[in-house]
Amino acid sequence: MIIILKQNTTTQQAHTLLEELEQQGFKHHFSEGEHSMIIGLIGDTSQVDMQQLLAHDMVEDVKRVSEPYKRANRKFNPDDSIFDICGRLVGEGNFSVIAGPCSVESEEQMIEVAEAVKKSGATFLRGGAFKPRTSPYAFQGLHGEGIRLLLEAKRATGLPIVTEIMNQHHLDLFNDVDVIQVGARNMQNFELLKELGHCNKPILLKRGLANTIEEWLMSAEYIMAGGNERVIFCERGIRTYETFTRNTLDLSAIPALKRLSHLPVIVDPSHATGLPWMVEPLAKAALAVGADGVMIEVHNNPKKALCDGAQSLTPEQFDAVMKKVTALAAFENKKI
Ligand code: PEP
Ligand code: MN
Repeated sequence: MIIILKQNTTTQQAHTLLEELEQQGFKHHFSEGEHSMIIGLIGDTSQVDMQQLLAHDMVEDVKRVSEPYKRANRKFNPDDSIFDICGRLVGEGNFSVIAGPCSVESEEQMIEVAEAVKKSGATFLRGGAFKPRTSPYAFQGLHGEGIRLLLEAKRATGLPIVTEIMNQHHLDLFNDVDVIQVGARNMQNFELLKELGHCNKPILLKRGLANTIEEWLMSAEYIMAGGNERVIFCERGIRTYETFTRNTLDLSAIPALKRLSHLPVIVDPSHATGLPWMVEPLAKAALAVGADGVMIEVHNNPKKALCDGAQSLTPEQFDAVMKKVTALAAFENKKI
């Protein structure tokens, strides 16, 4: 981190700041030029508050030369992370396919979809029991009963389950869930992220509707700072000026995250576009740009779905997508 001091700063004033930084445990390099004084902070500066430094009268500017996240950072963990979740490997060399309905609606629905997606080659089953809906009058999910139905579908098919948490006070209901999803709307719910940092479950962290890659990495850092190292990113599209698709899928986020972090990254083409016919091309694109998997919404009767029916694939459509994705995965040397 580089701290640039204002031109009229005296050497004595600079030394008071240097002492303050030393007291906080930082080593530094001080350079006094003809026109300006510069302090270089050495070591891990992830915990330095830039705004606090800028509040000093003598400070002109502060620049980071290293990222503010450490645990999620590839620099400190150069090898790709790989997680074993109920015998399914997520990360490096594997391509995970999470499939299932937007929301859990009934036992028949869950069993039918779970059996179908398993047959087509999905590796995880999804289904929302707690639904973040824009309207308070829309179906909100079956809550605890929804999780019970997911567990039944897991018993019937052996597929590990992924489901969204919206509130840390519900954590007890997630004891038997295999992967906890943090939805886009909660990517910066810091109290929830802190709580998930203390739980021993992999977290699927979706990108917020309007969040930058660095903010997303910082949210992963919140979870990891609590000791939970198993974070999987999920790019699900962001808000842009474009209205043709529900969101705009930021495919460039995948190579960006892969460069900056060692954590696995998956892509959700269903929420990214809202269009079932875009799922296949974008699932293939995700694979081609280096994603570690996809999350796809599948419903046994999309027309009757209580949530996101318009973007859901039928089991037959999903099967066709899987055939294409499997062929491409083999070409890319990735295991589904
Ligand atoms: C979901 O996965 O069902 C969901 C609500 O997604 P997102 O948080 O990405 O909108
Ligand atoms: Mn959905």
